[in-house]
Amino acid sequence: MHEVLFASAHIPRLERNISLPAKFERMLDRCDYASRFEGKRVAIKMHVGAAIGFYTLHPLFVKLVVDSVKQAGGKPFLTDGSFSTEAATVRGYVPEVVGARVVGAGGEHDQYYRAAQTELEELGEIELCGNVVDADALIVLSHGKGHGNSGFGGAIKNIAMGCVSYPTRGRIHGLMRSHFEWDSELCTHCGQCVSGCPTSAIKFNDDGEMQIFDHHCRYCMHCTTCCPTGAITMEEPRGKFELFQAGMAATCKEALKFFEQPRSVHYITVLTNITPLCDCWGFSTRPLVPDIGIVASDNIVAVEQASLDMIRAEDYIEGTLPDQYTTMGESGHLFERIHGKDPYEQVRQAEKLGLGGTEYEVVTIE
Ligand code: SF4
Ligand code: SF4
Repeated sequence: MHEVLFASAHIPRLERNISLPAKFERMLDRCDYASRFEGKRVAIKMHVGAAIGFYTLHPLFVKLVVDSVKQAGGKPFLTDGSFSTEAATVRGYVPEVVGARVVGAGGEHDQYYRAAQTELEELGEIELCGNVVDADALIVLSHGKGHGNSGFGGAIKNIAMGCVSYPTRGRIHGLMRSHFEWDSELCTHCGQCVSGCPTSAIKFNDDGEMQIFDHHCRYCMHCTTCCPTGAITMEEPRGKFELFQAGMAATCKEALKFFEQPRSVHYITVLTNITPLCDCWGFSTRPLVPDIGIVASDNIVAVEQASLDMIRAEDYIEGTLPDQYTTMGESGHLFERIHGKDPYEQVRQAEKLGLGGTEYEVVTIE
């Protein structure tokens, strides 16, 4: 059973020493970075966000991680996609604030990648970011939030989407596409599918051709059943979705092979400002649930399972979902009710590949 450290955002009394950053510092003290990171170049992989998004990790939490690595005798640097340095600056991830510079994960010119062969036949060879896998150690510092393609974006997504070349990312995304068929000859353009879609996933372009955005699609099948002419059909949507999750897990496995396990990899997921969409959207919508806190573990499966377990549908704050989502599904995890994709699937796929187990013990940091 894996240990998951937990610093709660809840504050029982008005005392600075029991607020989240203070608990987080005590959590980091407990992680024994000195014996793990002394003398090592430590890549801190985070998602620095995009455009005018403002619910990415607060720089204070990033600084506390950087300080902790430095105190342990390590040499930290932040890293994300190659063209992320400008996006990082906008959100305050600069040396003057967080104490470390941001290094483009794929090199200054986005040309530095290392090839790896995954165990997933449909994905095959991938390109991993050289500046991540060249490091001596890795801290996967993630913002836990929803994600339209995977249900949840945490540590698995941080590695699988953020530590690969843009073509590889496109190929992983491509594992879940093309599950709809639209017959233009049968379509009368009555518009029932568009008006009835609960997530506004369907549009007709200027040429009158249907376009369905997988990211928004909840697989509710309303469009296929409401269409009076049978113009839309859908094949094995969930099978394609599971393949996408398998692709992310397979990519994680290859990236993690570059590091000694478990001593040279640590996972920290910040569960605050839990929005429905990924930080790559370039804007922010309201958080769905009250802030939870921060979890940390040596194991990627355990940290993801614990993160998802702590985000409860029962805690949903009414009215925080954008109006574009006209209803919410009735069962499953909160993110499945929103996006129609079971967020635990990526965790199951990672477990299947031997990356860890879903049983964990929470150790609360007071
Ligand atoms: S419901 Fe069917 S016929 Fe009507 S616009 Fe949609 S695809 Fe075309
Ligand atoms: S399956 Fe449901 S969510 Fe997906 S496009 Fe059709 S109506 Fe919209």
